[in-house]
Amino acid sequence: MRYFLLIALSTHSFGHNFLSPLATLRSAHSTLSHAFTRRRPYPTIQMEETLRKALAEKQSAVDSQGNAVRALKAAKAAKADVDAAIEALNGLKLEKASIEKQLQAAVSGGGGADGSLNREAFRQTVNNTLERRLFYIPSFKIYRGVAGLYDYGPPGCAVKSNVLGFWRQHFVLEENMLEVDCPCVTPEVVLKASGHVDKFTDLMVKDEKTGTCYRADHLLKDFCNEKLQKDLSITAEKAAELKHVLAVLDDLSSEELGAKIKEYGITAPDTKNPLSDPYPFNLMFQTSIGPSGLSPGYMRPETAQGIFVNFKDLYYYNGNKLPFAAAQIGQAFRNEISPRQGLLRVREFTLAEIEHFVDPENKSHPKFSEVAKLEFLMFPREEQMSGHSAKKIPLGEAVSRGIVNNETLGYFIGRVYLFLTRLGIDEDRLRFRQHLANEMAHYAADCWDAEIESSYGWIECVGIADRSAYDLRAHTDKSGVALVAQEKFSEPREVEKLVINPVKKELGLAFKGNQRMVVEALEAMNEKEALEMKATLESKGETEFLVCTLGKNVTITKSMVTISKEIKKEHQRVFTPSVIEPSFGIGRIIYCLYEHSFYTRPSKAGDEQLNVFRFPPLVAPIKCTVFPLVQNQQYEEVAKVISQSLTTAGISHKIDITGTSIGKRYARTDELGVPFAITVDSTSSVTIRERDSKDQIRVDVEQAATVIKEVTDGRTTWADVWSTFPHQSSASADDD
Ligand code: AMP
Repeated sequence: MRYFLLIALSTHSFGHNFLSPLATLRSAHSTLSHAFTRRRPYPTIQMEETLRKALAEKQSAVDSQGNAVRALKAAKAAKADVDAAIEALNGLKLEKASIEKQLQAAVSGGGGADGSLNREAFRQTVNNTLERRLFYIPSFKIYRGVAGLYDYGPPGCAVKSNVLGFWRQHFVLEENMLEVDCPCVTPEVVLKASGHVDKFTDLMVKDEKTGTCYRADHLLKDFCNEKLQKDLSITAEKAAELKHVLAVLDDLSSEELGAKIKEYGITAPDTKNPLSDPYPFNLMFQTSIGPSGLSPGYMRPETAQGIFVNFKDLYYYNGNKLPFAAAQIGQAFRNEISPRQGLLRVREFTLAEIEHFVDPENKSHPKFSEVAKLEFLMFPREEQMSGHSAKKIPLGEAVSRGIVNNETLGYFIGRVYLFLTRLGIDEDRLRFRQHLANEMAHYAADCWDAEIESSYGWIECVGIADRSAYDLRAHTDKSGVALVAQEKFSEPREVEKLVINPVKKELGLAFKGNQRMVVEALEAMNEKEALEMKATLESKGETEFLVCTLGKNVTITKSMVTISKEIKKEHQRVFTPSVIEPSFGIGRIIYCLYEHSFYTRPSKAGDEQLNVFRFPPLVAPIKCTVFPLVQNQQYEEVAKVISQSLTTAGISHKIDITGTSIGKRYARTDELGVPFAITVDSTSSVTIRERDSKDQIRVDVEQAATVIKEVTDGRTTWADVWSTFPHQSSASADDD
């Protein structure tokens, strides 16, 4: 939810959490392709940061040695001493030049002897492959497309369905969550209550001549990053200033943002024309419900509100018990100002959201011990403020030291980590970054983003926030329906309480059929409102009172309600639950997964680079291909029999009976990330090839589908299969 402020897969384990001892042995297998070591396709941001730091240190060493040389010369020191100092200075300069060179290579990258690409080139290669193989298609392409709208083609749909299937299994099933499916079209009142109508805005600037719109903070961010990365001549002070601007970017008011844009002379990126002052732009797509045009609505910008407004019924469905979680997968719509970053910032996307409702006085989690030992990159607020990098912290320690606010929030952070890494996200390019105080809404207790490093930099893919009672209170206030929970006491407790007693007889006479709505609204008043009403009734005898469910004010007189503070024996506590919300941008996760899974390897002839997606079987759009080695009717019959068994076993697969060379057919399926290929080269037995190692085993025709089913379901590993079945020489397999 936006706030209104401004494995490494081990050799043959496929996305599942078990590794047989054989897998460890197998990792020594000398024919392993480089694919198994997750070589980064381009230098990571962390590497760049380290080099930048080293360069700054070397620069200050050069400066002070320069001063030392000048001082020696001024003091007319002995020639030998001056020469020694100059030699030291030259040495430092050489070291500085070498770091500069490395940094330059890291920033612009490219053409490394190891075949590494720079970020843009890598991204281009991945995106070309994705588009060519129809993982995605720019929407309405034949009409030149619309920025920020994309279709998923067949393999993209299959990947998305696999990711969502695993999400349901990993979260909904595991925690017995209550899944709902609410409409995208939402009436204005709901989004007014949530704050979206008034505050779901980004600051926009316009090219004063062409009218092209840009997000103001993005222009400032790009300017600062570009200066920091490409201009190696900037002083340490200037670099610190730019970094400070980046750190407080989300906090800048419209005026401050405008002032910085002017100070740095930032102009429209495409035309270099001057820019307007920044002004807020609401990101929701507006519509109206029904033909009259009198009932305004919006396309929902998130799915969460659908869950909040159903809280009362869901709580009842759950036997009036807390904690419980509700979940929803669905489309969200945001009219992004200038969507760049391809699939990462789009105008319609799939969100998968969880709202876990918990007693604010007890945020412990019964299953926290299951994730407490996990250790992964965390980037707490303090580390960010002091300029340090993310570091590995055991989750249990992060919670016990209070770095993470509470166990339930910690539990979900751990579960999100497991979810992402099991999908195939590289754990070294995943970090959990805590929101800075200025990023969090005032009501939030703590927020962490799962950020994944891609060629675009660190990208927020999952937001995990403890939003306290804000959302349920907001809808209680607006709707007049109490979205609360009760805790029954074993022994009654004495407490001073504000008691609101609507006098139903009087209210019934005055409001007839509307009586219930007025009673509910009176009972839903908070302490401040009730005491104000009491004072007005005592001084004036009556007061106007807004009943939201009626959509109008009614007159309440002194005889209709009594409001008092009394010592009462309570048998239960009534409270608004806190909500802990993990919110997953499914498209962003999938795009990062594409980048983390992609690699190239030379063809057998060495004359071209072949593309491979190393998807774990869990994610792979197609689990297996079946092809006869040569065009031959008997082999084709066997291929069809195997294909039928795979269908019966529920394994998505593709049969390829074209006469193309086997090497080319392998290359085609590698590019779709298909983990296994069955090649029919006899009528009794066939080979199964594993995509990344290109290793092959031989199995009986009757066994083929079962073996594939077991490895794709994660019930066994390729390592186990490799140790069970005879090996097949792969010498001829990848001939082009
Ligand atoms: P937010 O409510 O802004 O925290 O967004 C929740 C999640 O939705 C984020 O963590 C992102 O993964 C995803 N998201 C937000 N905006 C976009 C967008 N324009 N395009 C794609 N995904 C988005």
